[in-house]
Amino acid sequence: MGNHLFDLVRARIPAPEARFALIDDGRVFSYADMVAASGRYAGALVALGVKPGDRVAVQVEKSIEALMLYLGSVRAGAIFLPLNTAYTPAEIEYFLGDAEPAVFVCDAAKAQALKLYADKAGAKLETLGVGTGSLLDKAAAASADFADAARGADDLAAILYTSGTTGRSKGAMLSHDNLSSNALALVDYWRFGKDDVLLHALPIFHTHGLFVATNTVLFSGASMILLPKFDPEQILKYLPQATCMMGVPTFYVRLLQDKRLGKDTTAHMRLFVSGSAPLLAETHREWRERTGHAILERYGMTETNMSTSNPYAGDRVAGTVGFPLPGVSARVVDPETGKELARDEIGMIEVKGPNVFKGYWRNPEKTKAEFREDGFFITGDLGKIDPAGYVHIVGRGKDLIITGGYNVYPKEVETEIDEMPGVIESAVIGCPHPDFGEGVTAVVVVKSGADITAASISKALDQRLAKFKLPKQVFIVPELPRNTMGKVQKNLLRDTYKDIYAK
Ligand code: ATP
Ligand code: MG
Repeated sequence: MGNHLFDLVRARIPAPEARFALIDDGRVFSYADMVAASGRYAGALVALGVKPGDRVAVQVEKSIEALMLYLGSVRAGAIFLPLNTAYTPAEIEYFLGDAEPAVFVCDAAKAQALKLYADKAGAKLETLGVGTGSLLDKAAAASADFADAARGADDLAAILYTSGTTGRSKGAMLSHDNLSSNALALVDYWRFGKDDVLLHALPIFHTHGLFVATNTVLFSGASMILLPKFDPEQILKYLPQATCMMGVPTFYVRLLQDKRLGKDTTAHMRLFVSGSAPLLAETHREWRERTGHAILERYGMTETNMSTSNPYAGDRVAGTVGFPLPGVSARVVDPETGKELARDEIGMIEVKGPNVFKGYWRNPEKTKAEFREDGFFITGDLGKIDPAGYVHIVGRGKDLIITGGYNVYPKEVETEIDEMPGVIESAVIGCPHPDFGEGVTAVVVVKSGADITAASISKALDQRLAKFKLPKQVFIVPELPRNTMGKVQKNLLRDTYKDIYAK
């Protein structure tokens, strides 16, 4: 048996000297460099005592080294476990305690604060920064000639914690085949080839930047421009050299604020992809007008990798996440009975296929609760499939508002508000209400100087929505709270406004 994931990567290397990544403001990192460097990291991990099945946890800033550590971990047969760089030491304590990694790698600046927690979890603490004795040095001293650990399709390659948008993050166990089958499907669906150059500005502790972006490059022999973070200035600088970009909706919103963005700056581009959070129809339309490109929106989760995508060649319909990828099945069911619903009926989205994870780390009860007997995974997202087959995400099950016995889908109310002139965006939440159970509440961001108030929003909604859907209170705020993936944190909003209807 070989190493399932890395054997597939090797088989797709276009040529040893072919470019894998452009790094550090212009330095080229070839495919041969990728094989050598990941081999050195694998060797360094094994020398630290890492055995197949051990977890290698990392909390490091984005860099080519961090990516090589991911591949090195895969080649050593370990389970790669990246952690959000925004996590505080107290959060890291929880994750290390839950994951019990053999090794924990962090940036040198954080080592002192995290040493105690690594010790407590029984993990060896390593740093990735420059400095004697760092993992960087150990890798540099290790042989580039590494014999990959044998790992099969069903062995775990990674544990990724979910973003924690709806509650405490859960560890999703992902197998070699979960990752490779999804990468192969994407390469095909999005027509990636060795001439592609991906502008990679996403974080690499999340499924989007680590797997969707990086693995699509690795599995097509393409190359990428590895940017440490999203910065419109850097994007515009490197856009002329790229063919594709993958981003979260906030990337597109922020780029649209830059006057230099236009048809001339993007005419050579082949593809713009958006995911991780809903892309406003308004952003889709504005991007199309300004650049001539229809952003391709897709849908995925930490647990399912990518499940659906708008078509490459067909109509990319704004407000939808397209069709299930080949090999993936999606259905919409009644959340209570589990019965499949007809087209256009809103219910729970469920997904099945080789992309779907192996379960939640050390939480078999939750795993059991989130899978149907026929193998479908209950995503927790509400949506519908329209007559043409496009999947629509209506929102999260946990965000559904039940007021006076009626179901209110926040997105329906948000869409009405977002379409009002002067509104930038909105979030509609349910807040505890003594008479109705929950009271519909709107939190709205408006353009500066716009002639719009909470009262005028309420008045305009009066004409458009059934009475039970109307917000009982509207709040104007400077911005919505978002996490590092650009997702609106409704749990924080619910907390802020939890007492507004208290008697
Ligand atoms: P947690 O599960 O810890 O609450 P999370 O669900 O935000 O966090 P992720 O796995 O990063 O963690 O995100 C997956 C979710 O992101 C999906 O379930 C869905 O709600 C949302 N999402 C992803 N892509 C889209 C999209 N194109 N449109 C709407 N929502 C999307
Ligand atoms: Mg989730």
